[in-house]
Parts: sequence; C-alpha cells; structure tokens
Amino acid sequence: MIVLKFGGTSVKDATAMRQVFSIVSNNKDEQIVVLSACSGITDSLIILLNYAWQNQLSEMKATLEKISKHHYQVVEDLLVDSNYYEDAKLAVTKLLDELDKFIEGIYFLKESTPRALDKIMSFGELLSTTIFHYYCLSQGMQSIWLDARKFMKTDSNFNSANVNFDLSRTEIANYLESTQFSKVRLAITQGFIGSDSSGRTTTLGRGGSDYTAAIVGNMVAANEIQIWTDVNGILTADPRVAKSTKTIEIMEFNEVRQLAY
Ligand code: ASP
Ligand code: MG
Repeated sequence: MIVLKFGGTSVKDATAMRQVFSIVSNNKDEQIVVLSACSGITDSLIILLNYAWQNQLSEMKATLEKISKHHYQVVEDLLVDSNYYEDAKLAVTKLLDELDKFIEGIYFLKESTPRALDKIMSFGELLSTTIFHYYCLSQGMQSIWLDARKFMKTDSNFNSANVNFDLSRTEIANYLESTQFSKVRLAITQGFIGSDSSGRTTTLGRGGSDYTAAIVGNMVAANEIQIWTDVNGILTADPRVAKSTKTIEIMEFNEVRQLAY
C-alpha cells in the first residue's frame, strides 16, 4: 500500500486535478490519496469567518459566493459530460449549504472560537476530496471517499490538535475494512482535519496535510508515502519572492535534510 499526498496547488482547478488523476490512475498498488483544499480556499474560509463574526455582511456574502463559484466551476470543468455530474453537484451543494448555515450562525452570534475556525476550515478539504472522488468515478476508477474525521482522532486542542495514535490506528483499520478498501484499492481522504472524542471537527495546524499523510502512512504500514508538489524540483530561492530562480540539478540527501530542518 502507498499513501500519496497532493497539496493545494496540485488540486487548485480542473487541470490540476486531471494531472493528479493521471498520477493516481497509473499506480498499480493499493493507495490512499490525501488531498489539501484547493489552493487559497483555506485562507478564504478564514477570511469568511472573520467577516461573519465582525458582521460585514456584504463582504461575507461575496466571499461565500467566491468559494462556491470556485468549486462549482471545478465540478463543471471536470464532470459536466459525465454520469456523475448531478451526484457531484449535489454533494458539493450539500457541503456549501452546511457551510452557509454555520457562517450564518457565526454572523448572528457575532463571535468566533478556535472550534468554529476548525469547523469552517474543514470545508476546504471536504470539498476538494469530494470533487476528486467523483472525478475518479467518472473516469471508471472505483474509489471510496473516507471522512478523515472518522479515523483521525485527536484531543480538543482546536487549530493544532494532537493525534491519538493508538485510537486512530484502530479506527482507520476498521474503517478500511468496513468500506471494503481491499477490493476497491483506492481511497480518497482529507489532509489536515480530524475530530475529538466528542466528534467535533479539529485540525492539525496550517499546512497539516503532509502530517496527515505521514500519520496515515504509518498507521496502515504503507510501503511508501509520497508527498507530491507541483514544482520541477528544488529551486535556488522562493520563486514567489525572487525572479530568476534556477532548479538545482543534484542535491545530496544531507543537504536536503539540512534545509528541511
Ligand atoms: N488546507 C490546509 C492549509 O492550507 C492544510 C494543508 O494544505 O496542508 O493549511
Ligand atoms: Mg503544504
């Protein structure tokens, strides 16, 4: 079994998701695919929450609209001609309606909490994985969609929860068995999110999807954990800051390790 993780830019739109699908569909192993939210969506959800508790109604509505539009567009681009189009749209609508209700609650309460933030942020990963799951089905690739909150069990330290490894290990084993993973051989799940002992949504901290992949890989005793990013290699500098960066052709393991530290 292998675990593959794709970050936000790798699932940012239909073109990116197609690319992910081509990687996934070329694998012969059993695989669990961990996805981030589409790039920029987690940030937008945080902004949305802030507009809500600060009662900035028009900004709040515009942000919600932007988030909805983005996901409907990806569904449209990926699935419009497929038998799964209506199902995918319905699943996305259900999530967006739920998000809408929560945001409205926050708006009336005029108050936000770390717990609310985790709940709101979780929609990014729930949406991206839902769309990708339907895309796999539409391409004739059987897959199961796993709700990471059912197996990634954490404490109640919202926004930076600590994982209960023993419990999570048991939960994921049971979950994979009950969903007949060994027959389907492909599961799609969310990075970053989990739930506490009362079933309330938690997150592992910003950028936590890599961590999810590592934990899942360990828990299922995967042969490999692959963290995919959408760059050609390691550059000489951050290309968002420096203009003329170059790809470093060869790096030794120790050098990479130093940089990672
Ligand atoms: N979507 C989350 C974030 O933006 C988690 C991740 O992408 O790793 O922080
Ligand atoms: Mg990342």
